[in-house]
Amino acid sequence: MTQRQSIRGMHDILPEATKDWQRLERQMASLFARYQFKEIRLPIVEHTDVFTRAIGQTTDVVEKEMYTFEDRNGDSLSLRPEGTAGVVRSVIQHGLLNPPGLKVWYQGPMFRHERPQRGRQRQFHQFGAEVFGLAEAGVDVELIALVDRLWHELGLRDDLRLEINSLGDPEDRQRYRQELVEYLMPHEQELDEDSKRRLHTNPLRIFDSKVETTQAIMAHAPRFFDHLGEPARVHFETVCELLDQLGIEYTINTGLVRGLDYYCRTVFEWVTDRLGAQGTVCAGGRYDGLVAMAGGKDVPGIGFAMGAERLLDLLSTKNDESEAPPSVYWVGAVGIGPVLQKAEALRTALPSLVVGVDLVGGSLKSQFKRADRSQARFALVVGETELADGTVQVKDLRSKQEQHHLKQEDLAQYLAEQLIESKE
Ligand code: ATP
Ligand code: MG
Repeated sequence: MTQRQSIRGMHDILPEATKDWQRLERQMASLFARYQFKEIRLPIVEHTDVFTRAIGQTTDVVEKEMYTFEDRNGDSLSLRPEGTAGVVRSVIQHGLLNPPGLKVWYQGPMFRHERPQRGRQRQFHQFGAEVFGLAEAGVDVELIALVDRLWHELGLRDDLRLEINSLGDPEDRQRYRQELVEYLMPHEQELDEDSKRRLHTNPLRIFDSKVETTQAIMAHAPRFFDHLGEPARVHFETVCELLDQLGIEYTINTGLVRGLDYYCRTVFEWVTDRLGAQGTVCAGGRYDGLVAMAGGKDVPGIGFAMGAERLLDLLSTKNDESEAPPSVYWVGAVGIGPVLQKAEALRTALPSLVVGVDLVGGSLKSQFKRADRSQARFALVVGETELADGTVQVKDLRSKQEQHHLKQEDLAQYLAEQLIESKE
């Protein structure tokens, strides 16, 4: 039989990597809790129109990236390409929008059929957060402050810069759209194919184009920022003032438009130069019309999503030495029974200790080799003598110290002092 490979762009997360994921997951859960967010866990599959309506028909995600299929009932379903649409569906369905101020976070896999490359998988993972029912600028800023704190806690603050922009209100965009199209019409033939099409469907998205000739044309395009209506302009100025007050640095990037249709007013991205072309680690913004469009009450919303793979990639470039957990490894020359018994007793006595047991046996030399490879700090040895006099031989695997004997009943206390209390 030919050997199967995982699907292109969908990666296994192997045992050596999961500890970094788990650590990040713990940090995220703690951070969200401190800002009063509760976790929400949703299906990975939704009716396709949950996404097409929310994200917009003329976006890249809906036009060419979704994994859409018919199930056995003939319903059109899709793997989620992002989290917000499903969260909105859920909070409407379960009536969670009252009272205003719901704060939820989520994590998990997302699916987009894009060209795989560094920072771009077909199955990737996001952490995201959403706040519903609050229109005030302070909400935008608290959300940004949360992410800023995360960078501090991860030691990444100097690697990421915050860019913000305002996409205004729908009526502002309507007016601006006409002006943009008027500017672009004389350049139509110079645009790339995608942008030509967008000129008539979604001209704002042309700012997102990565094609250089198109970018050159867009560099001189009228900026939406100069067309903000009064309410959106005041909102944005307040956001900037509050960020200043908190000492959170940012740059205003008036060319920042987001890839999904539902955004309005504040949009933001955290970008790094250390990951090559795919440098956006976290992105978000306001989506005040989305809940109503999805069939709920007309309440405002705001959120962000960050790419877990890009974040872990960035963390790994910092080559921080991740601390190994306290760990020992049992080695025996008396059969597996007594060794397992002692290991179990030790696991009961010290629940936070990682306890390895040599299950293979054989010569002491080969057992010690495996003990070394397990990266344990101490090897614990039981031979006939130790079994007879109720002791354990303790060998420090990291220093050249002589090995010494301990009474069985003193072992847990000794290891607690050496490995656990010394870390606290
Ligand atoms: P990009 O411009 O990089 O395509 P996007 O605007 O499509 O990003 P969002 O929909 O805003 O991305 O998703 C939020 C975050 O999720 C991104 O900033 C990125 O960190 C991550 N992300 C998006 N698509 C992928 C992907 N295919 N593989 C890995 N991470 C991704
Ligand atoms: Mg994309």
